[in-house]
Amino acid sequence: MALIVQKYGGTSVGSTDRIKNVAARVARSRTAGDQVVVVVSAMSGVTDNLIKLAKDLMPLPNEREMDVLLATGEQTTIALTAIALHSLDVPAVSMTGAQAGIVTDGVHTKAKIQNITPRRVHELLDAGNVVIVAGFQGQTIEGQITTLGRGGSDLTAIALTAALKADLCQIFTDVDGVYTADPRIVRDAKKLEEISYDEMLELASLGAKVMQSRSVEFAKKFGVVFEVRSSLNDNPGTIVKEETKTMEGIVVRGVSLDKNQAKVTLVAVPDKPGVAARIFKAIGDAAINVDMIVQNIGHGATDTVGATDLSFTVDKPDLTKAQKVIDGLKHELGFHQVIANDKIGKLSIVGVGMKSHTGVAGKMFETLAKEGVNIHMISTSEIKISVIIDLAKGEQASRAVHAAFLG
Ligand code: ASP
Ligand code: MG
Repeated sequence: MALIVQKYGGTSVGSTDRIKNVAARVARSRTAGDQVVVVVSAMSGVTDNLIKLAKDLMPLPNEREMDVLLATGEQTTIALTAIALHSLDVPAVSMTGAQAGIVTDGVHTKAKIQNITPRRVHELLDAGNVVIVAGFQGQTIEGQITTLGRGGSDLTAIALTAALKADLCQIFTDVDGVYTADPRIVRDAKKLEEISYDEMLELASLGAKVMQSRSVEFAKKFGVVFEVRSSLNDNPGTIVKEETKTMEGIVVRGVSLDKNQAKVTLVAVPDKPGVAARIFKAIGDAAINVDMIVQNIGHGATDTVGATDLSFTVDKPDLTKAQKVIDGLKHELGFHQVIANDKIGKLSIVGVGMKSHTGVAGKMFETLAKEGVNIHMISTSEIKISVIIDLAKGEQASRAVHAAFLG
């Protein structure tokens, strides 16, 4: 007999029909003799809608109240899932995050899990029940309701798997697993049998939104192996785990295209200490997230100091705000011009094998050159190469790079 944690995302519980489907799958696992803990998200669209309702009332609602509000989404789904299981004569009990023993810090809307004492979950399982836990929520030691950040049900599932010492963690979603590229862009993208935590983290941060990044970080830290698979069929999914020797044999695991970035270039910034600090302090103070930063070697001379160009990327919705912040620094810093461009894409290749293979960057750039794709910016990590290119060529470039490394 195994103890399995199954997490079902918003689309997998998006209607009563889908919830019946989940109940049937849970019932099957249980008939096979396993104990099952189910973690559910809010029905798809519900969390977004609750946020919208609050923002209709005021632009920046109190975060404690937001948590009280948002936690209702998952509370609806746990009860409905329990009821669906009862209709199949399967004993099932729903639990809020607090009832399941999930204790968090007090940072409302993005709380961190401090500890989990799942004693009551074990008791209910031992009494023969399926236990259904609300994802995305917990409570502080003082009893305040908290939520774990968008996509936080993934974290609930991973953390519960660790706390319960469960044998298996399955993340059910609306795709078959993790692919070598977005199949909507690259037709012959293949489903991966396995992927390492680090590769998964890079792909998530690159816009391949499969799972909440924090949950993957947590899984890596606590060595929780999990499977990402579809709730709509019985195909095996992708296993996410620590990297192995065989994984390193493959140079590139996946290709991703992030269309949600924009580029800001400051032309002829004085080349002297403290300038970059001033710029990115101001951007940070405005709560704008910066991804790539590229600064050139200084050139020419404006007055007594040289000048350099500096480019960085932000999330597309933050572009106007970033431009405003930078415009405000123009007098103080004395650069020539700001150029903003939101027609860019970030194309990346990811693979732990890059650590031990050479020539990967050359091959990627050569492939892009053959397609006539110009590279605006380049950044690399040990297991990733990213380039900023024109958005219009993003999909074509993705296909070419995929074919070169994974075709
Ligand atoms: N319902 C929450 C959200 O939409 C949590 C989750 O779905 O994982 O972000
Ligand atoms: Mg989700």
